[in-house]
Amino acid sequence: MSERKPIVAGNWKMHNDRNETRTLIRQIIQNGKNLGQNCEVIIAPPFTSIACAAKEIENSAIKLGGQNIFWEDKGAFTGEISGPMLKEIGCTHVIIGHSERRQYFGETDETVNKKIGSAIKHGLIPIFCMGETLIERETGQTFEVLKSQLVKGLKSLKVQNPVDFVMAYEPVWAIGTGKTASPEQAQEAHAFLRRELALLWGDKFAAETRILYGGSVKPGNAKDLIGQTDIDGGLIGGASLNAEDFLGIIEQGTGF
Ligand code: PEP
Repeated sequence: MSERKPIVAGNWKMHNDRNETRTLIRQIIQNGKNLGQNCEVIIAPPFTSIACAAKEIENSAIKLGGQNIFWEDKGAFTGEISGPMLKEIGCTHVIIGHSERRQYFGETDETVNKKIGSAIKHGLIPIFCMGETLIERETGQTFEVLKSQLVKGLKSLKVQNPVDFVMAYEPVWAIGTGKTASPEQAQEAHAFLRRELALLWGDKFAAETRILYGGSVKPGNAKDLIGQTDIDGGLIGGASLNAEDFLGIIEQGTGF
C-alpha cells in the first residue's frame, strides 16, 4: 500500500451556476461517508461559483481548486485571475496545463511553466496536467511528449514538499470521449512520469508525489485504474458533475 494519500479531484469545467453548485456540494457532503478521511477530495468550480462553493464546503473536508491561474499577481490583464485572488477566495489547489487550455486557449509549455511558478510562489498546490494526443500515441511519441511537457513545465522550478505538488496524466484522446486508457497503458505512463520526475527533483520527491489519472473515469472503471501502483487518484471531468458518480469513484477508486 502506497503512503501517498489518494486524491480525487473534480474538474467542473464550464458547468454549474451557483444554484447548481450549492445542490451538488450538498449532495456530495450528505452522501459521502468519512469524506476526506483517507482520500483528499477537491472540486474545481468555474470562477463565478467559487465563492459560493467556498461557503458550502465550510466545515467539510472538501478542498477548492481553480481551473486556471495567471502568472502575474495584478495588473492590466483583462479576463485573468491571479494566484493571490485564488488564495483569497479559498482555493488551495489550481489545475494547470489542462489539455483544453492547451488546445483552445493557446496554453504552451512556457505559459504552463510560468503558471506553476506563480502557484508555488503563492502557496497554491498545482495540479499539473500532461498527456499525449491520439496521433502522438499512434505514432509512438507518447513518452517523448510527456517528457517534454514535464521538463518544460517544471523548468527552473522546485517545490520543497511533495505533498504540495500534484501531477495528472490525462491522455487527450480519453478526455470527455468515453474512451479510457487501459489500466496498463495508464500505469506505464504514470511510472514513466514518476521516473522522469525523479531525474529532475530526486527519487524521494518523486516517490512521494501523487500522480492522478484523468480521462473518462467512472465508478465502473475507477478501481482498475486507481488501483494501479503508480496511480494515486483521479482528475474527473464529466463524472464529477453528478454526486453519485463522483462519490462512486471515490469509493471504488480508493476504497474509502
Ligand atoms: C478532465 O477534464 O480533466 C477529464 C478527465 O474529463 P473527463 O473525466 O470528462 O474525461
